[in-house]
Amino acid sequence: MQVILSAQDQKDLHYEVECILRMFLPQVRLRFCQEPEAGERETVRITTGGGEGLENTVSLTLGDFSGTEGEPASGNRKDTEAAVCRCLYRLLARAAGKGISWGVLTGIRPVKLVRELREQGLSGEEITSRFTDRYLAAPEKAALCLRTDTVQQPAIARSLAKGYSLYISIPFCPSRCSYCSFVSHSIEKTKKLIPEYLEKLEEELRYTAAIAQEKGLLLQTIYMGGGTPTVLEPEQLRRLLKTVNRCFDRSHCAEFTVEAGRPDTITGEKLEALIQGGVNRISVNPQTLNDRVLEAVGRRHTAEDFFRAYQLAKTFPFTAVNIDLIAGLTGDTLDSFRHTLEQVIALAPENITVHALTMKRAADMIGEKVQRLGEISQVGAMVDHSQAALAQAGYQPYYLYRQKSTVDSLENVGFCKGDTPCLYNIYIMDETHTILSAGGGGVTKVVLPGNRIERLFNYKYPYEYISRFPTILERKDALKNFPL
Ligand code: SF4
Repeated sequence: MQVILSAQDQKDLHYEVECILRMFLPQVRLRFCQEPEAGERETVRITTGGGEGLENTVSLTLGDFSGTEGEPASGNRKDTEAAVCRCLYRLLARAAGKGISWGVLTGIRPVKLVRELREQGLSGEEITSRFTDRYLAAPEKAALCLRTDTVQQPAIARSLAKGYSLYISIPFCPSRCSYCSFVSHSIEKTKKLIPEYLEKLEEELRYTAAIAQEKGLLLQTIYMGGGTPTVLEPEQLRRLLKTVNRCFDRSHCAEFTVEAGRPDTITGEKLEALIQGGVNRISVNPQTLNDRVLEAVGRRHTAEDFFRAYQLAKTFPFTAVNIDLIAGLTGDTLDSFRHTLEQVIALAPENITVHALTMKRAADMIGEKVQRLGEISQVGAMVDHSQAALAQAGYQPYYLYRQKSTVDSLENVGFCKGDTPCLYNIYIMDETHTILSAGGGGVTKVVLPGNRIERLFNYKYPYEYISRFPTILERKDALKNFPL
């Protein structure tokens, strides 16, 4: 598809226009240009007005559909961008025969937008109008963001001026799930790398802790994810946790989460090691309790395994246990998703997180089975059902984020019962304070005055992390120069 717009508009509008097009046409190749190419039929043509009285117009030719939308120009570039997005969205929604509940809101942190609007003095009603009128979002999405913002405000208030969080990456899993979009490796292929990986990781943790101490930073939360950290042997977990506890001052640290994601990795000995190491929150993630679906996505465990692991975890004194679910996995139906959710709610975990399937995963699965298209169209109904059912069961949304590639641009939402939100999840999504990361695929996000964010990337893959380790420490040195 060719997207025709002037050189200046390409500079100003390219990103937003691409985001809107991708929500409806995730797989289509886009070619941005100033002049149409003969013979190319699928076209978006954008013309922006230069001042009062002139029109911003968007024309779309897509398959059998052809149409034009326009809005008056105001002369302000931000307003022009919003007007073009609305015009393009309306055309795409007409062509597709359905809209997207987030409208033209493309950001991955809509709750942060709500907070900024609240800080500007807008009331809940005015924020809802902003969502519906400027962004064409459904009022339910505004309500969800407002509720989430209210729940997370006390957690954000707990973040100290010198506060930071620590992320530790263990990018290994017992086997690779077919829908996985993380950097994680099946231990069947990479088990021999684990001892050396852990040695380097401990060295990076020591290095990071020394910088944090030098800068006077105060550690508030730790999150160990990946991957599945509980794929490590009990002795490896004990040693790693000992290093963390020895290097970092945890006197301000309220939360230490470990992803015990795959039930097939959980044993009493490992849970004991976590408790001894000061971990107070874990995640046990079946994603679905439908055995057919578990098998189809390569999880290599059953619903029964999950129940066993969960009940075992509940015999240990963790403050909170989270359960992750995914709406839209291969072979899952609305009925079977509802059944999964019912069973999870009956367990009354402190946290439940519901993710929407991403298009990347969906696309891979469509390659396998054409009937997936019908199932994918139910993802929105699953997400809506989860939010209604969890509200009824007394859960509140405490963090929310969107991914560019999610089916129908749907959101992922973490819910909590009572005062049990995961602080780390809130801090990373809100960009409240700096996150120092260690391990393969870790991204350090430095939050600087004026809401400026700087990122330092670690190598993604374990073998790269090991072989290019000196560069990782060199990159970490940049932290010393930031005004933290
Ligand atoms: S358990 Fe999670 S990180 Fe590991 S392969 Fe499955 S989806 Fe990926």
